[in-house]
Amino acid sequence: MAVEREKMYECEVRRRRLKPGGGYEPYWKLKSVAVALVDEDTEFRCKDCFGAVKLLGRTGKTGIVAYVEHKLSADAEFCPSGLIFQRATDGRVAKPSANPVV
Ligand SMILES: [Zn+2]
Repeated sequence: MAVEREKMYECEVRRRRLKPGGGYEPYWKLKSVAVALVDEDTEFRCKDCFGAVKLLGRTGKTGIVAYVEHKLSADAEFCPSGLIFQRATDGRVAKPSANPVV
């Protein structure tokens, strides 16, 4: 039996922007994973819990859309986008990652 994979098609990517007064500052921007790849973004995090994510499905094959999943199952257990969280029947409450990517 195939194990159902967690697939999140949106993520946040780290970008830089001009700071008022000069210089750059990092910020996180919400994007679809497919667009982030086209834009050659390299740093990703979960848009809901800000936890680390793995990039998957980047094969370029027709019909395969790139996606991310949580690196840490602890994040998936309490993230509103996490498969484990969504399947949980214990009435748990979502919370941000204990190890957020900042
Ligand atoms: Zn998450």
